[in-house]
Amino acid sequence: MSRVIAIDGPSGAGKSSVSRLVGRKLGFLHVDSGALYRIMTWRCLAEGVDTTDSVKVSEFARKVEVECRPEDGRIAYYVNGEAPGDRIRKPEINAHASEVATVKEVRDRITAILRGMTVYGDLVVEGRDITTAVFPDSPARFYLTASAEARARRRQKEEVEKGIANQSAEAVKASLLARDAIDSTRQYAPLRKADGALEIDSSDLTLDQVVETVLSALPADWK
Ligand code: C5P
Repeated sequence: MSRVIAIDGPSGAGKSSVSRLVGRKLGFLHVDSGALYRIMTWRCLAEGVDTTDSVKVSEFARKVEVECRPEDGRIAYYVNGEAPGDRIRKPEINAHASEVATVKEVRDRITAILRGMTVYGDLVVEGRDITTAVFPDSPARFYLTASAEARARRRQKEEVEKGIANQSAEAVKASLLARDAIDSTRQYAPLRKADGALEIDSSDLTLDQVVETVLSALPADWK
């Protein structure tokens, strides 16, 4: 049986950096579940599918083939043999991903894909419903959060550094809060702290301190 570390939290809380480092330290594969929702959104927008039309989104998403491959310590995704890269990190994807993620058939499909990844070995999986719906029985579940200001600051810096966008911190904050609102109020698998998950507020912690907090809370024989 492979072991799964599950990490949920709102946008920009630092889940990706923490998950990547924890995975590297333990030799667990990093799984970015949000990227799968982003890929579905990217394909919908590219094919002119209205992301507010759940019936159309559900029909279309069924046909999107995503290849998942373990690569360099993570699960890499390919669509028609191509890695999506930063195309799925653009502001227009941010603006529509949460709508696509409300669609039950999309969630069911992505949940099945994520559960299937355990064949590749031990995993650190980050997202919004990993601790509550995808791997609720994991003994290592975390809810990572931070103030809206800290999250917007980090996200904006990352967008500028990677050349993805050049939005103000205010615009980034508005986009994060809009997504949080949809993610935490949707009908299926809303974002919430799972009972029994360890909550970590990273607002005033360094990345290393968060990673240490996660590592120290793992079952003794996982470290
Ligand atoms: O984590 P990231 O910001 O890339 O996720 C993009 C969007 O995908 C989120 O805002 C959320 O709507 C959706 N998502 C989700 N469940 C997950 C991961 C992401 O609904 N497990």
